Amino acid sequence: MVGPAALALRAAMLGAVVGGLAWLSLHYTRQPTGLSTLWAASGVLCGVLLTTPRARWPWYLVAACAGNVLARWLHHDAAYSVLGLGLLSLLDGQLTAWWVARQVGDITEVSHIQRTARVATIAAVAASALTGLAAAALLAWFVRADFAAQFGNWFAAHTLGLVIFAMLTAVLRTERARLFGRPGRRVEFALLNLVIAAATVAMFAQARYPLLFAVHPLLLLAAFRHRFAGLVSGTLLVGAIAILATFSGHGPFAIDGASTALVRSLLLQCFIASTCLVTIPVAVVLSEYGWLTRRLRASERNYRILADYSRDLIVRIGADGVRRYISPSATAMLGWSAEELRQPRWDLVHPDDLMRLREAFGDLRAGGGSTTVAFRTRHKDGHYVWIEAKASLVPAERPGDPPEIIYSGRDVTARVAAEQALAHNQRRLRAITDNLPAFVIHVDKEEKYTFANAYTGRMLGVDPATLVGRGVREVMGEGVYAEIKPHIDAALRGDTVTFEIEREFQGWRHWYQSTYVPDVAEDGTVLGFYAVTFDISRLKRAEHELMRLVRYDNLTGLANRLHFNERLELAVARHRRTARPVALLYLDIDRFKQINDTLGHATGDAVLCEFAERLRHGVRATDFAARLGGDEFVVLIEDADAEEAAETVARKLIGTMRDGVRVDGHVLPVTISVGIAFCRGEIENADAFMHRADTALYQAKAAGRNTYRLVH
Ligand code: GH3
Ligand code: MG
Repeated sequence: MVGPAALALRAAMLGAVVGGLAWLSLHYTRQPTGLSTLWAASGVLCGVLLTTPRARWPWYLVAACAGNVLARWLHHDAAYSVLGLGLLSLLDGQLTAWWVARQVGDITEVSHIQRTARVATIAAVAASALTGLAAAALLAWFVRADFAAQFGNWFAAHTLGLVIFAMLTAVLRTERARLFGRPGRRVEFALLNLVIAAATVAMFAQARYPLLFAVHPLLLLAAFRHRFAGLVSGTLLVGAIAILATFSGHGPFAIDGASTALVRSLLLQCFIASTCLVTIPVAVVLSEYGWLTRRLRASERNYRILADYSRDLIVRIGADGVRRYISPSATAMLGWSAEELRQPRWDLVHPDDLMRLREAFGDLRAGGGSTTVAFRTRHKDGHYVWIEAKASLVPAERPGDPPEIIYSGRDVTARVAAEQALAHNQRRLRAITDNLPAFVIHVDKEEKYTFANAYTGRMLGVDPATLVGRGVREVMGEGVYAEIKPHIDAALRGDTVTFEIEREFQGWRHWYQSTYVPDVAEDGTVLGFYAVTFDISRLKRAEHELMRLVRYDNLTGLANRLHFNERLELAVARHRRTARPVALLYLDIDRFKQINDTLGHATGDAVLCEFAERLRHGVRATDFAARLGGDEFVVLIEDADAEEAAETVARKLIGTMRDGVRVDGHVLPVTISVGIAFCRGEIENADAFMHRADTALYQAKAAGRNTYRLVH
């Protein structure tokens, strides 16, 4: 930060410089042979403003204008000149500085240099024209001066002055010491300026030959070698010598003694303008070129650092196969030094990957673009390293050479191993599920199959792969879908469910047992569910058979004691509730032992079966007949309204045996005895009820058999 006092001091110094330059210019302009060639004050102000923060502009403007006005006042100018021309003659510098600052911003930024030169030139020309018009009008009004001549002279002097001195001031303020050449090249700088000065002096020392443009190559050389410093110092030297020589009546512009000061001045201005036109573009372009080159080098250096320190393997391969660059990471990754890998080393590539890699690089060279290829390279230790290379075809380093391949390779050995393990696991899982005698599927939360094992495909008669993507509803059909939908919903809510389903399949009744296990992601969201479904039809049939065996008599097919006991318990319970009468008939074959003993056990069995058959037909469908064991049978009648009904059944059953039983062509007389227990509301329990029937049977036996008795 600069304090107000320091700022005021700087502004005062600027005011003094501007005022001094203005005084000098006016002084030389007003000599009898005076020339107005370059107006320096405005250019200096412009150069200072452009290299100064905006906040200081008002200080500097006020000081510069004060200096300028003071210079005219010291020359005893009229009031219109002191104030009018005094302010106008700095206005073009201000306008140019304002416009350039607005359009370009920081003029010291080399990347803006072309734009700065363009905008500054246009602004200088426009501003000088504007102030020139105003000044010529003022002079024509007050002193009746020639408007065109005044405008032309003002315009040229101001434009040149602005361009040269603004540039000089800006370079002086930004380059400082380098204005006298770069360190190490100062002697050359001084010599070159000396040569320029000598050549200019030689040109202006004579008036015979118009050799003016001989100095241009020297100025160009200065611009080439020393950029803006060379340009500014050379132009200033040439301009100063030309002005002084011409002013003192020497040189080509004084050839014609009759020419007026105005003509000489215009010629001089044209000459100086031509030196600027030749040298400024060169200095601009060279400065920009230098800056671009430096930037390119810096950028190359940066990328080189990136490549050098990259953990990936970065390789640049020329069209001849020679590696133009190999990053140092090669040693860490492959054990080989970059030098050992310089020549093509196809021998290091795994034989199985060789063709693929050659093809990938061949295609890349033929078609351009980019490609990704994974291959194994032998480490110096002997083991192989998986490298995933992202390769691109890029222009060659040297223009005109065939394109080169750049690839960045990453060690993906661990990843490949993990992928192989995963693939192996998947194959193993596939093998297990495919050979499992069960439907194994995975369904996503949109209820679409994402996996189906081979068994599922076999059972449905389709390739399991074709199920993937299809909906459960579509594959299963509406009926089954409606049945399993609640379980699907439960699984998708995150519950594990097991259920059985019965359905007709391929003409047979099948039973299936399914377990749905939700597929839950790490964050807890349900992605779908796994379903394992077993065909449990054989199990079900065995279960039914077992149930039948447990509850039915093997010999006769009638219900057995277990089954009867259950029915009796139920009947007793029902009786308690409804109070409807129940009758129990206890039947026993008379002297059965004798049949066994005399005709054999097989005949006994045949008799038992025959009796069971007659019993089955002798009772109504609502009655329940069972064999309790041996030759003992029971009939449970739940809708016997009265004792007579039970007695009728007993009589009927006794009657069925009237004709005996035919065995092996003989008729065997067989009779039965029946004990009846009848109750109408008084049964206490099943055992007591049975006991009464048993007692009744005993009585029937005692009464001579082939009869029935009833016990209340
Ligand atoms: P009662 O007139 O007093 O009933 O005389 P019974 O000879 O019929 O005597 P009981 O009812 O006590 O005899 C039953 C016999 O039935 C005894 C047993 O040897 C025979 N038995 C039991 N189970 C079977 C069987 O499954 N088959 C055959 N053939 N005989 C059986
Ligand atoms: Mg018996």
